[in-house]
Amino acid sequence: MINRNFMLAAVLSLASQSITAQVNCDTVLPPPSASAYVLPFPIGETYKVIQGNCPDIGGHANTFAYDFNTQTGDTIVACRAGQVIWVNEQYADNDWTNGHENNVFIRHNDGTVIRYTHLKQNGVFVNANLLVTQGQPLGLSGSSGNTGGVPHLHLQVFRDGSSYDKWNAIPINFSNADGPVDSQNMLQNGAYYTALDGTVSSDRGPVQPAARLAVFPNPSSAPAFIEVELDEGCLARLDIMAQQGQVAERLFSGRLPAGRSCFSWRSRLAPGAYYARLQWAGRQAVAQFIIR
Ligand SMILES: [Zn+2]
Repeated sequence: MINRNFMLAAVLSLASQSITAQVNCDTVLPPPSASAYVLPFPIGETYKVIQGNCPDIGGHANTFAYDFNTQTGDTIVACRAGQVIWVNEQYADNDWTNGHENNVFIRHNDGTVIRYTHLKQNGVFVNANLLVTQGQPLGLSGSSGNTGGVPHLHLQVFRDGSSYDKWNAIPINFSNADGPVDSQNMLQNGAYYTALDGTVSSDRGPVQPAARLAVFPNPSSAPAFIEVELDEGCLARLDIMAQQGQVAERLFSGRLPAGRSCFSWRSRLAPGAYYARLQWAGRQAVAQFIIR
């Protein structure tokens, strides 16, 4: 929110919370490739951050949130899978009264809660209690509530559902954001970000731990088994890669369910060292193995 009453909000927060409950604006995030979040707009779309985290003044002072310059009627998608816990969409797009924001709130698996705010009147596609997947359209952007008349999406993640005050916000970045990050691995005020297809990411940071990807037996003569485990169902690709980095065989491309999936695979490849590569939501995991 572009909140011109932010001083009052800060004073109220401080009155009810100890000083230790303030956000730490110096937090450094892991690289974007490790993020559980994707940008809140469809693949291929580009938007500008018009207010980032912890500016000196403005509605985001002393808190973590992003404002994207979405126009009224633009589609907003879920950054992460979760369950919708609150929807309101009754306020007009020219009602810029503080507190008259249209919102979707979603709780994630880890208890964090995200808010998508200033949505279009009657522009929400989801209902409370609905389970949503990452990338699922949630509704249309708008200018309801305290926008100062500037349509935008206010996006903010909270540690838990105990409070949606600024001191309970946590910082995020996005695994599929094509654009610059600052020294804290956060999006930069004034910069533009394009939502990349999460399944075609390449070298977007360090390789993720391979804990969720296993090849057995190893070493293997055919057949081998490759087990994949995902927290959340999502689009994914599974490839066998040669050591030089090229795809030797594509085993799977499509939607994988949450939980374990097992692929049986009879190799036609020459003996040697290979690795299995799983790509999902802009992240990747690899597991090396030997074919005898
Ligand atoms: Zn905002």
